[in-house]
Amino acid sequence: MTSFGERLARVQARIDEAAQRHGRLPGDITLLAVSKTQPVEKLREALACGQRLFGENYAQELAEKAQALTGESPQWHFIGPIQSNKTRLIAEVAHWVHSVDREKIARRLSEQRSADLPALEICLQVNVSGEQTKSGVDPGALPALADAVAGLAGLKLRGLMAIPAATDDEQAQRRAFARLRTLLEDLQHRGHPLDTLSMGMSHDLEAAIAEGATIVRVGTALFGERRTG
Ligand SMILES: *Cc1c(COP(=O)(O)O)cnc(C)c1O
Repeated sequence: MTSFGERLARVQARIDEAAQRHGRLPGDITLLAVSKTQPVEKLREALACGQRLFGENYAQELAEKAQALTGESPQWHFIGPIQSNKTRLIAEVAHWVHSVDREKIARRLSEQRSADLPALEICLQVNVSGEQTKSGVDPGALPALADAVAGLAGLKLRGLMAIPAATDDEQAQRRAFARLRTLLEDLQHRGHPLDTLSMGMSHDLEAAIAEGATIVRVGTALFGERRTG
């Protein structure tokens, strides 16, 4: 069995290599370990290897893991679809939310974020592949959503996130990620001080880094295949 430490070293080497190939600094790319469905012991192993940032998709699971790991101060990133009855758990526990795609959810997070806590760091999830089933705001509706979210107390708008349609074609991967980068640049030109592109997963992190990813969200390549059901 491969240890987390070995997998982490391999993923970090992929990040370093891609950064070097595209003239970027490896230190400008943050590795988010996507720990959804993984048991708490796996997260402890990751923490022991120095991995501090974890991505979770389910609010209840996030709350339980945060409770179990309180003493080890991981940084929690919520990256899954958000139901409005789950925003309170997320607002109480998460440091970042990558998957805000409508104003109603942002308003709830803003209202429910305690004033004692630092602002919740927000990425807007964009549907860059145009598939009806995918979550994410349509690119055309993005500027209005960004303006609305930027004005909400308790939230800090940091950038954009996308999960493009899966493909093995690296040029197609890069086109989708370039689209997200262009949308970020458009918002920057409109005056939003954004610095984050959350894009790239186990199978396409190189293409994402080529197009400017600042956070890559990696699950399988770090933890192995997820348990299903
Ligand atoms: C599960 C998930 C990932 C990680 O995917 P892998 O292919 O296992 O690396 C990244 N981002 C989101 C939003 C996810 O749901």
